Amino acid sequence: MKVDPELCIACEACLPYCPMGAISMDDVAKIDPDECVECGVCFRAQVCPVDAFVEEVHEWPRSARAAFSNPLVVHKETRVPGRGTEEAKTTDVTGRFKRGFVGITAEMGRPGIGVRFYDVEKVAQAMAKTGVEFAHDNPVTHLMVDKKTGKLNDEILNEKACSAMIESITTVDNIPAVIKALREAAGQIESVFTLTISTKLEADGSALCDKPLKELNVPLYINGKVNVGLGRPLFKEES
Ligand code: SF4
Ligand code: SF4
Repeated sequence: MKVDPELCIACEACLPYCPMGAISMDDVAKIDPDECVECGVCFRAQVCPVDAFVEEVHEWPRSARAAFSNPLVVHKETRVPGRGTEEAKTTDVTGRFKRGFVGITAEMGRPGIGVRFYDVEKVAQAMAKTGVEFAHDNPVTHLMVDKKTGKLNDEILNEKACSAMIESITTVDNIPAVIKALREAAGQIESVFTLTISTKLEADGSALCDKPLKELNVPLYINGKVNVGLGRPLFKEES
């Protein structure tokens, strides 16, 4: 994103809209290109009285910023806009994981802080060491040059996004190893992540992942979701 210095009248109306705090004021507004994640909020907010914002099309690897941060940009590998994934919580339709398995997602970055891909790589590599399988239809997985180790393409490591989701599948038995690895990785990154564990419920309404998570003192914020109208299940679970 750029500001046209010939148009800007330094009214400061755009300043609160940037989720990364990348716009500052000099004689006119200026954007720090290293902090800007190309989310397009300043442009779409339409607060500039003189239309001074100029949306740019970038080449790889900077093009990844808009793909991960601008909800109107479609990820070309997954053909999904926004975070670029249908997410593990749609498993009842997609059948991403079966009974006895869980979806483990590290949702990295937030407005205000964002995330560099070198931190995404650190967390992915920590998860990979526990033997998780990374979700195939996920844009972070598409950036990996080695899906066994979680190594990302070196070209992208210094790029920044508003958020990026690392999605994986593993067994319920492997939960303690993944949580331990993520706790260690959390202390080694400049950003933040939230952890989502997606599971199918048993017939009595219980969840197999509850016990290991409680034993690990992981606070649970249970979030049930019924995706009415999302579609009919495309898979059949073996009885
Ligand atoms: S594109 Fe997004 S990050 Fe960049 S200056 Fe505009 S609001 Fe800020
Ligand atoms: S809203 Fe437009 S004119 Fe006002 S400071 Fe921002 S870029 Fe300049």
